Amino acid sequence: MNEKLVEDLCELACAARVLAVNGHEDMTLGHVALRDPDGRGIWMKRRGLSLGEVRDQADFLLVDWDGKVLEGEGNRHGEWPIHTEVMLARPDIQASLHSHPEYATLLTASEAAFPRFTQDGLRLGSGGVPRFTDTADLLVDREQGRQLAGKLGDADIVFMKNHGTSIYAETIAKLALTGIFLERAARALIRAKSAGLELEVPAEGDAQKVIGSLEEAGFVADNWNYLLRDLRRREGPGMTGRADR
Ligand SMILES: [Zn+2]
Repeated sequence: MNEKLVEDLCELACAARVLAVNGHEDMTLGHVALRDPDGRGIWMKRRGLSLGEVRDQADFLLVDWDGKVLEGEGNRHGEWPIHTEVMLARPDIQASLHSHPEYATLLTASEAAFPRFTQDGLRLGSGGVPRFTDTADLLVDREQGRQLAGKLGDADIVFMKNHGTSIYAETIAKLALTGIFLERAARALIRAKSAGLELEVPAEGDAQKVIGSLEEAGFVADNWNYLLRDLRRREGPGMTGRADR
């Protein structure tokens, strides 16, 4: 494994641990993946670990486009097609996350719209979130993965009815931030609805200033670097993964 790939997998491990403390931890369920730079498939978190327990490159397996493990030690998750089929359909996607965050997963069970009335919500963009409704069961074959990729289209997030969410991004930093903003926006919506609040979305002009912030390299870098510093404060000097840049 070359140095760049080791560094990228360590950065993805950091993203998994950041996501774990931001609502995405669900025992050993859920996974992250990175496109293999040599086109052989994906590097997917191994089974049996939680997102919060992923330390470094040793916690990933190279899985080919047919689900065969080519490199790495440990067991493979069954839901590899959630990652591979989208990466085949979308050359822009480099990193992906499938998880069961409590609040966003609750939204998957509803056809109701997902109004964006906080900055977290607006940062997810102005479009709706596509909803995959073919099954609430695990996606374990290529055809199901293709259906999911078709439903995702050119969006970055897909709700999987009664199951969880999948997120796709061009960079690891953007993957982590999207995961955090999604769960916080879903939590805000559900809390507001529980309190019976009448919600108003911002005026179009104001909303436009926030929509698209995930496309700004400076915004993404500043906040990803903050999250890494925060992770280091919690994990201490023994932290594995990417150093601050
Ligand atoms: Zn799942």
